[in-house]
Amino acid sequence: YFISIEGPDGAGKTTITEMVKEQLEAEGYNVVHTREPGGIAIAEQIRAVILDPKNTEMDARTEALLYAAARRQHLVEKVLPALEMGKIVLCDRFVDSSIAYQGFARGIGIEEVWSINQFAIENAMPQLTLYFDIAPERGLQRINQNKGREVNRLDLEDLQFHQKVYEGYEIVRKQASNRIQTINADASVEKVFEQTMDIVRKALQY
Ligand code: C5P
Ligand code: MG
Repeated sequence: YFISIEGPDGAGKTTITEMVKEQLEAEGYNVVHTREPGGIAIAEQIRAVILDPKNTEMDARTEALLYAAARRQHLVEKVLPALEMGKIVLCDRFVDSSIAYQGFARGIGIEEVWSINQFAIENAMPQLTLYFDIAPERGLQRINQNKGREVNRLDLEDLQFHQKVYEGYEIVRKQASNRIQTINADASVEKVFEQTMDIVRKALQY
């Protein structure tokens, strides 16, 4: 079962997904928690190039292609083999991130970014997407409080950029309302975890 995790920066995706993985494993499931861009050596190397704060001159389409390239390698090397073995894959970010960040916030266009991603993934879409909903202001507050977070070229972006990301996600959520389930991420860790497990349990039907 393929589940992607989406939402703005600072929504708590990584924290909650790790808790979901532990819970599902305790219940006997085989679970892989992975992330994009990254998750395997080649894609982590691409991630380092994309997020290097020194690469301020990177063109938006170059960025979109690098994300799509990292996505493809991660998919064929890690996600698809795990799914074939019957595992649950929890993927921190997938195509919807590219639509929201590169397609909408960077202004390349949603259709353009879809088309390069269709080339990259060949129909391998998640069965369920958990969308962690948080206002951009709140997400940014959380990021600034999280001292352990890696340095990242996106840290240079302002609130206006993150507002556009949020708008981009709203468009994606409307277009794929069957696949994408929204979680209120502006709540305690316990409450967010509870909401998430309810949705996951319904999807897995137990
Ligand atoms: O998910 P994570 O926080 O690790 O992502 C690293 C950074 O890459 C974030 O700042 C995120 O906003 C950015 N990103 C992006 N476009 C994507 C995926 C992630 O700008 N398609
Ligand atoms: Mg994260």
